[in-house]
Amino acid sequence: MTRPRILVVGAGFAGVGCVRRLERRLAEREALITLLSPFSYQLYLPLLPQVAAGVLTPQSVALSLRRSQRHRTRIVPGGVVGIDTAAKVCVVRTISGEFVTEPYDHLVLAPGSVTRTFDIPGLADHARGMKTLAEAVYIRDHVIAQLDLADASDDDAERAARLRFVVVGGGYAGTETAACLQLLTRNAVKRYPRLDPDLIKWHLVDIAPKLMPELGDKLGAAAMDILTKRGIEVSLGVSVASVDDEAVTLTDGRVLPSRTLIWTAGVAASPLIGTLGAETVRGRLVVSAEMDVPGLDGVWALGDAAAVPDLAKGGEGAICPPTAQHAMRQGKAVADNLVATLRREQTHPYTHKDLGLVVDLGGMDGVSKPLGVELHGAPAQAVARGYHWAALRTNVAKTRVMTNWLLNAVAGDDYVRTGFLASKAGTLRDFEYTDAYLTPEQVRLHTGSFRGAVGTGGDD
Ligand SMILES: Cc1cc2nc3c(=O)[nH]c(=O)nc-3n(C[C@H](O)[C@H](O)[C@H](O)COP(=O)(O)OP(=O)(O)OC[C@H]3O[C@@H](n4cnc5c(N)ncnc54)[C@H](O)[C@@H]3O)c2cc1C
Repeated sequence: MTRPRILVVGAGFAGVGCVRRLERRLAEREALITLLSPFSYQLYLPLLPQVAAGVLTPQSVALSLRRSQRHRTRIVPGGVVGIDTAAKVCVVRTISGEFVTEPYDHLVLAPGSVTRTFDIPGLADHARGMKTLAEAVYIRDHVIAQLDLADASDDDAERAARLRFVVVGGGYAGTETAACLQLLTRNAVKRYPRLDPDLIKWHLVDIAPKLMPELGDKLGAAAMDILTKRGIEVSLGVSVASVDDEAVTLTDGRVLPSRTLIWTAGVAASPLIGTLGAETVRGRLVVSAEMDVPGLDGVWALGDAAAVPDLAKGGEGAICPPTAQHAMRQGKAVADNLVATLRREQTHPYTHKDLGLVVDLGGMDGVSKPLGVELHGAPAQAVARGYHWAALRTNVAKTRVMTNWLLNAVAGDDYVRTGFLASKAGTLRDFEYTDAYLTPEQVRLHTGSFRGAVGTGGDD
């Protein structure tokens, strides 16, 4: 008998959580597991702001997909650019640019999310994200480049513009990014004796009336206090009206001369989800509490890409927030349900009660709410770092991260630009591949030969 083929799309918290569980629970003869991923690592996203700030090296948050005692999954190095759910085939663009087809019996969709954008003039060309390793490295280089260029310039206006940085998004990603990078510039400027440190300005902007509302009023105020004491100007109830090469214009009419707009205003499900033509909730694929997709045979979805019902919240229509905490656990739960399905056993709904939020603001600062306990300052940061350290999947990653933290605490940073990505425009399109996907017609050109084979084709 041939083995059922399980395809897992995306090697993030959800995809890797699922694959590792499948490897543990299924014997080789029970299923052929394939992971489709453009990268050879799982990115530990919550530590990305620390990569941008130079506290951690990029390698320390990129966890190898092959370092596991039970590793036996076939890995196809490429991104899924279309899915023919009738023929049960994925179309993959490999890292060498070729198109290959991967048939499946069970498909686990875990492609995560991309940075959410709006139709704001100039945004597509000037906004830089904080969602991929390339973006974190790019932003670090870009910020250091602004210091280098300001230092070399004799034009006061240019200096001021290069030393003004705007971050949009007052969620944990944006707040951590602004806080960690502000520290980077505050410390780095000591190596630029020609630059006036007072010229460095950081702005954190959000349309919402509060920073990180999920923290509650008291901790939100504590975060605000930490940021403003550091000199970060926080503007709430405000967004970006337009951006160009020279300035960011805010909706309250202010024009901020700046060469840097870091955009972290939320996430949207991977564009792959939209190509399916299936039902979505705010762009996330509708799934049952067991995480199978209604109406699509053999398809499961989870993580940031799926609207998994949040049963622990109880309320009708509540869906799990897009967090690593959920994605990781959903990965294991979907694997258990897949195993149960293959063995004709009972599947189970996913349920997990949120453990809270940890926010590392760099230096010795943080705000955290583990299991409802409100902390700020150094204890909050210790909890944040301890949580992330424990959540890293491999011991070698734990060792790398801890060593980097110690090294940074003792020796600081040298603020060097690597220049690897200097020739890239660094847009969200460049680094998040948002325009890589095929139309259904283009997909069918690749999957036509499979359609007769499963006996479900015929609509084209
Ligand atoms: C800066 C930052 C800080 C954060 N901090 C926290 C935190 O403190 N706590 C917390 O719980 N959450 C945090 N999050 C959110 C958390 O990282 C996400 O919710 C989590 O990564 C979602 O997991 P996922 O597996 O769904 O997606 P991801 O982890 O993003 O993985 C998706 C994977 O799919 C791949 N992929 C995408 N498209 C395709 C395709 N077409 N084909 C194949 N592969 C594809 C991607 O390359 C990626 O590897 C943070 C996020 C950011 C950006």
